Amino acid sequence: NTFNTSFDDADLQQKAKDHLWMHFARQSVMEDGGGVPIITRGEGHHIWDSTGKRYFDGLSGLFVVNAGHGRRRLAEVAARQAEELAFFPLWSYAHPNAIELADRLAGYAPGDLDRVFFSTGGGEAVETAFKLAKHYWKLQGRPAKHKVISRAVAYHGTPQGALAITGIPAMKEMFEPLVPGGFRVPNTNFYRAPEHADDLEAFGLWAANRIEEMILFEGPETVAAVFLEPVQNSGGCFPPPPGYFQRVREICDQYEVLLVSDEVICAFGRIGEMFACDAYGYVPDMITCAKGMTSGYSPIGATIVSDRVYEPFKHGQASFPHGYTFGGHPVSAAVALANLDIFEEEGLNERVRENSPLFRASLERLLDLPIVGDVRGDGYFFGIELVKDKATKLTFDADESERLLRGFLSKALFEAGLYCRADDRGDPVIQLAPPLTVGPAEFDEIEGILRGVLTEAW
Ligand code: PLP
Repeated sequence: NTFNTSFDDADLQQKAKDHLWMHFARQSVMEDGGGVPIITRGEGHHIWDSTGKRYFDGLSGLFVVNAGHGRRRLAEVAARQAEELAFFPLWSYAHPNAIELADRLAGYAPGDLDRVFFSTGGGEAVETAFKLAKHYWKLQGRPAKHKVISRAVAYHGTPQGALAITGIPAMKEMFEPLVPGGFRVPNTNFYRAPEHADDLEAFGLWAANRIEEMILFEGPETVAAVFLEPVQNSGGCFPPPPGYFQRVREICDQYEVLLVSDEVICAFGRIGEMFACDAYGYVPDMITCAKGMTSGYSPIGATIVSDRVYEPFKHGQASFPHGYTFGGHPVSAAVALANLDIFEEEGLNERVRENSPLFRASLERLLDLPIVGDVRGDGYFFGIELVKDKATKLTFDADESERLLRGFLSKALFEAGLYCRADDRGDPVIQLAPPLTVGPAEFDEIEGILRGVLTEAW
């Protein structure tokens, strides 16, 4: 092949140290540490760094590369589109790929979610949904409906609206005051259920009813929307208990609150369906999505909206004063269409549905290790919670967590050849979300690496 395989690692490390600002990361890794891993190439479920070492991509980049790395077909589609029409905005104009992709997404989306507003990523899709919810209620003559309810430890992005509804205090404190109106309710962490710890369904109803409680406390006339991920990522994968979303839908209907399904991670096969709300049998008023839509070959995001929410914008002079220069970019939209073709041709969703129980079973074998407290998730999306004492579910304190995750696990897993995430935004967890192309042999490989490293961890 024609790929560049020889990189001057020392030169790149020096330039990174001098000029690169990483996201959500300690720059001290470059200033005082041994440097930053520099990833140069990907193929299938593998990636290579600038020294030539190969790793298993256990996180699909960042829950993104769902169809796997190195797909020439997607690269060729991108190149052809860039040559034909590299750019045109959706500001009062359109281009064929955005139209075709909107049609395609509306076809996959459940119920009457028929209208698609494009952005360039997940945070913008969430920001769009937040602004649209406020605008919608204003057009209904109910301007006081502006507050948004979301869940503890949930991550919804970095724009200041999306950040306002993010439930991770450490990411928000330095930017306060944020957009007013973000209110937090409990998530569906059954492992640490404060009520009904022995009855999943009862716990789910309890968690859903906290949303009703919050709506009533704030006043239904002030609440615009509830933003929920189908499976919450931050905190380490909290799937919805049976009946949870059905009860949430009831509550939202009763108090006239819009239900937004934030599927930035969960859409496009991660849970074995194009949209994860289908996996759990609910129809939201809006879906936000991004990441897997192009499998990362080009950036795009979308907010998919119900006919009801779209209705006031349909005729006359109403317009939604919001947009992004690169929203629905022609190259990204072309790549998304081709990526979704691959999903259908290769049956990636079916593959996830079929193999997910095997993935779960391989990770559950790790429960024989004293440090592994819980394995949870769905589809190709799992979290492993690490505990200091399994019998009491005692978690690590902040210093211990720092030593365990940053001091040891992140490096040791990577050195052992597995790229994944050791995260402490809630209790310490290892997050796994491999490309949807992997199967039983790769599950065993992941388990083997985790077992080796976790045995040495504490
Ligand atoms: N919403 C959820 C559920 C996410 O997981 C993320 C990113 O991980 C976002 C929103 C923000 O997406 P982006 O990083 O593309 O802005």
